[in-house]
Amino acid sequence: MSVYELEEKEKTVKYFKNLLHSDRLPHSLLLYGGNVEKLETAAKYLAKILNCENPPVKGETGGNLECCDSCSSCRRIQEETYPDVYWIRPESKLRQITVDSIRELIREIQLKPLEGKWKVAVIVAADRMHQNAANAFLKTLEEPPAHSLIILITIEPHRLLPTILSRCQKINLTESDIQQINQFKDFLQQIASLILGSGKEVLGRYKLLDLLVQKLNEIRDGVEQNISSGSPEKRFKNVEIDSQVLEKWQKEAKSLIESEYRRQRQELFKAVQWLFRDIWLQTIKDSQQLLALPELADYTSKIANKITPEDAKLNLEIFEDCQRLFFTNVQEMLILEVTLLRLQF
Ligand SMILES: [Zn+2]
Repeated sequence: MSVYELEEKEKTVKYFKNLLHSDRLPHSLLLYGGNVEKLETAAKYLAKILNCENPPVKGETGGNLECCDSCSSCRRIQEETYPDVYWIRPESKLRQITVDSIRELIREIQLKPLEGKWKVAVIVAADRMHQNAANAFLKTLEEPPAHSLIILITIEPHRLLPTILSRCQKINLTESDIQQINQFKDFLQQIASLILGSGKEVLGRYKLLDLLVQKLNEIRDGVEQNISSGSPEKRFKNVEIDSQVLEKWQKEAKSLIESEYRRQRQELFKAVQWLFRDIWLQTIKDSQQLLALPELADYTSKIANKITPEDAKLNLEIFEDCQRLFFTNVQEMLILEVTLLRLQF
């Protein structure tokens, strides 16, 4: 097992242990976070605990609390060849989860487990479920057969239909992201207070644009300073350097600066995205415990009161579009302006 998996396991254990300990394992779980691979690992881990043949730890009522990771069941669950753990992923070029594959899943989950104690169905990228597929699924999601567990995985939970969302217990596995956004907390608070203070008028949007541009300039300056202070040009400043070599160094430094700037800009926008995700969560009943920025709950709940859940969802999509556009040739300023003008608040 890799270090990465171990680290992931630790986090996941915390969430699952509570559920397993109390014998309160829900019928359907939604695992969400920033990384599909990690979410799949978590789903496999839970499926292994439920079906392990030699569980190292058992609860008072006899349920497994840990898996051995080496028995035949554990190994086959890892390889996705275990008959009682059923996987579906988006198909075809459209990356859709079709109504046919959902019907197949429903059939599959009605059958008694072949080998293990639990039937587990994992739907990867559940947000790609076609509307018909989602509708076909609601009844099973609400009343799944005994000893079955449905796990939905998504990195974009707001794209799920509210009817699906409300039927799942949600587990947020994005702790590392949360640590990362802490560095932008003050900035996010500034954004939140600006949104709260401005009405629907355009002026508020441009104030927000100013704030973002200022922050991006700050980031670019920092990156430039960092990279040029370590450049060979600086290190050999007392030596005469061939102009061609010098030119090559300058070119290299420029592309280094650009790529580092883009990376940090992405981090910043991810953090802003979290703020908008919190605002969206605040429009949903009983979702407060899932906030990424509980310190800003006061702001996000007040903003949420000003908009509809649909608007909050739309804002998240607008920010996703914005981040996708950063990977194209469209000018940064234009992307920011369009993004801010589209936002609903
Ligand atoms: Zn095992």
